[in-house]
Amino acid sequence: MRDKLFIDGKWEKPRRGGTLDVIDPATEEIIHRAPAATYDDIDRAVKAARIAFDSGPWPRLSGTERAVYLRAIAEKIEERRHALARLEVTDNGKPLPEALWDIDDAAGCFRYYAGLAEELDANPEETIAVGDTRFTARAIREPLGIVGAITPWNYPLLMVSWKVAPALAAGCTMVLKPSELTPLTAMELGAIAEEIELPPGVLNIVTGTGQDAGQPLTEHPLVDKLAFTGSVPTGRKVMMAGAQDIKNISLELGGKSPFVVFADSDIEKAVEWIMFGIFWNQGQVCSATSRVLVEEPIYEAVVKRLCEEVAKIKIGNGLDDGTLLGPIVSKGQYDKILTAIDRARQDGATIAAGGGRPAGFNSGYFIEPTVLTDMSEDSYVWREEIFGPVVCVKPFADEADAVRMANDSRFGLAAAVMSTDKERCERVARAFRAGIVWVNCSQPTFTEAPWGGYKQSGIGRELGRWGLANYLETKQITSFDADEPWGWYIKP
Ligand code: NAD
Repeated sequence: MRDKLFIDGKWEKPRRGGTLDVIDPATEEIIHRAPAATYDDIDRAVKAARIAFDSGPWPRLSGTERAVYLRAIAEKIEERRHALARLEVTDNGKPLPEALWDIDDAAGCFRYYAGLAEELDANPEETIAVGDTRFTARAIREPLGIVGAITPWNYPLLMVSWKVAPALAAGCTMVLKPSELTPLTAMELGAIAEEIELPPGVLNIVTGTGQDAGQPLTEHPLVDKLAFTGSVPTGRKVMMAGAQDIKNISLELGGKSPFVVFADSDIEKAVEWIMFGIFWNQGQVCSATSRVLVEEPIYEAVVKRLCEEVAKIKIGNGLDDGTLLGPIVSKGQYDKILTAIDRARQDGATIAAGGGRPAGFNSGYFIEPTVLTDMSEDSYVWREEIFGPVVCVKPFADEADAVRMANDSRFGLAAAVMSTDKERCERVARAFRAGIVWVNCSQPTFTEAPWGGYKQSGIGRELGRWGLANYLETKQITSFDADEPWGWYIKP
């Protein structure tokens, strides 16, 4: 585990020498003291990224040349697959098979954007038809500049990869600040960058708190773009900081995503996808379908089967065989989730399953998978993101009722619908005000497809070619090709 910041291709102690306790949420033990960056370190990192962008080779390499580095990063991630996955488990708490899946996705993300970097060379410009034949116009794409990237703790290396891979593919340089709760795998990415001899300053990794390291990054005048994933309140601060000098901004924020299950659905399939939609990664998933709407005729049956299956979920240390639900990432998140469950109880909700700390766990931030029913549509637990293994289930009368309830949220990240009627699924999918819609499933995510939210769930899209566009500027080059004089001020 690393105890220095990765700045300008070198490992450096933070100027003020501070550290962050990294805690294993399954044991509550301190497993590492990570370096805590402050303003001075951010300033050095941003200046290194600026020099690498303004006078280094990176933005001037062809896409094909940059792709070689991206593929080398993917290979190194794959080589360290098991070690990285284990670090992720001890840092974040998630079960090992989920962590392995994340690491594979992270490597896949670098490979995918290597391909898109090559495509940039294949399509270097677009000719634009303009309404005057004396002119020719073209559009070219250029790297946007220096990116300040800030990431959350729920998928530590994967959320980092969703930003680093497309930004580097585009030719940008970056200062990355991972979450202070889970800095370990991001620091390993620094070691990988060093091993593959990524030019200095292209990727700088500074661990630290939001206040001491994140905020100075968002306020730094030499940063051109802020790419942020995290909560709505922090996203608002990032946007306000970026507004000072009109930085380009993309935000991937929270959600309270609905899952609408119609009465013609297979109940077993519905229960399985409801569970995958909320208990995967302990429910700490921005797109988690935490509001389940079930059509009245099958409501009771779905709740009953859901509670039976939820009781079977094996809770434990993510490193133990068979664990399907690990601990919550931190004491702070653990307290927040238990407080939300208590509040739901006081507001009149029924705890149909779970609702507290599982029996027999003396340490670790463990919370039972929890099913809540009978909450009102204006209750806190129905409206606000809990970001834990807590699902709210409500009945609905008909399609119009379901769509109204689903869309009645300030968030619009994801939504899911289940029915055997394909036309109905298509109608409801289009009626959802959300950036990601799943039909007859919930959560499967592909690097090739756009990811991002409507309303307060964010601005912009990651992944796919949309993710690359996040890090590119578009320039028009228009030339006057005629021999004749222009003739506006000086008459021929
Ligand atoms: P958070 O907002 O608390 O922190 C996110 C990051 O912002 C961290 O690195 C943190 O250090 C930093 N930060 C905090 N204050 C800052 C400030 N003032 N200036 C700059 N940076 C600051 O979020 P979190 O708890 O790490 O993550 C959970 C949230 O992330 C949830 O709301 C979840 O829905 C969201 N999320 C969204 C997506 C998506 O793709 N839409 C993906 C994962 C997580």
